[in-house]
Amino acid sequence: MNNDLIPRSDNLSAVDQEYEKRLRPLSFKDFKGQLRIVDNLKVFVTAANQRDEALDHVLLHGPPGLGKTTLASIIGHELNVNIKVTSGPVLDKPGDLAGLLTTLEERDVLFIDEIHRLSPVVEEYLYSAMEDYQIDIMIDKGPSARSVQLTLNPFTLIGATTRSGLLTSPLRARFGIRMHLEYYDAVVLKGIVKRSSSILRVEIEDNAAAEIAGRSRGTPRIANSLLRRVRDFAQVKGNGKIDLEITRYSLDALNIDRHGLDEMDNKILAVIIEKFGGGPVGLTTIATAVGEDSGTIEEVYEPFLIKEGYIKRTPRGREATESAWKHLGKHKTGDTGLLF
Ligand code: ADP
Repeated sequence: MNNDLIPRSDNLSAVDQEYEKRLRPLSFKDFKGQLRIVDNLKVFVTAANQRDEALDHVLLHGPPGLGKTTLASIIGHELNVNIKVTSGPVLDKPGDLAGLLTTLEERDVLFIDEIHRLSPVVEEYLYSAMEDYQIDIMIDKGPSARSVQLTLNPFTLIGATTRSGLLTSPLRARFGIRMHLEYYDAVVLKGIVKRSSSILRVEIEDNAAAEIAGRSRGTPRIANSLLRRVRDFAQVKGNGKIDLEITRYSLDALNIDRHGLDEMDNKILAVIIEKFGGGPVGLTTIATAVGEDSGTIEEVYEPFLIKEGYIKRTPRGREATESAWKHLGKHKTGDTGLLF
């Protein structure tokens, strides 16, 4: 699959961002799937609203494009407060963070995306803010410089990360609510595609929505992005309406994998099968062979490949399943793993 077609949160163009905003659900009611997470969050938000207190700090983790930013903005809406958005790499110095924290009003939400990328000094500075709503700031310069303690308004920090394995345990421990977002199944994704097409005012047939959903790697961001591309094809090469035929034509023209796997997914499967006879093979060996960090493979790529039944975790390493062999158009001979 051509990776340019599946925008990740860190490489979205201005147009992509504009569309994401338009298609982003604003209430729990419109947020599809992740039922357990949504049900629990509703309880916590309602309880905080009833007590008129700040919601406990929330950590959302899971692969890109599954709705972490969306959920953070929904929480802000449902708490009826302002939300300030920033991200780990942007917060260079404790002063940057202090600047944000001191502008928060009571019960406001501060959303920090990619929180695993906070620098250690900024992270440490965050601890007392999260725990006691207090920070130290330096006033004056030179010999009269001194630090004073400032009390903040009670606020909620929502942190999002694709790599929860990189979070330090003191930071993780300061989040009272921790939730892991899972890949979406095709039925829920189909619902998301239909909702998005009605916002974009384009007619779509049921089986066309299902086809887009099935080729979206379990990810709403990819589903929405494919929908926009198919809409272009339908407008220029068809009659404007999205049916199964134009959908298949567009997705094939765009070289989108039949099952929605992306380039790295296919590379991982190819390495296990072609270099290691189908496995079992260790995670670090796979990582070296595909040129990706092993934590990213474990937290971002592997969960989808396991969920879809392409690889299995065994005590001796990762093993390609029958479906993976089939997907790559290869055949396995007995247990030798030889190709023919
Ligand atoms: P993340 O922050 O996890 O990378 P986002 O929250 O930015 O992902 O979601 C990417 C896009 O996918 C958003 O534009 C949003 O419209 C859509 N989206 C994500 N989750 C859902 C959902 N559960 N229901 C509907 N749309 C969703």
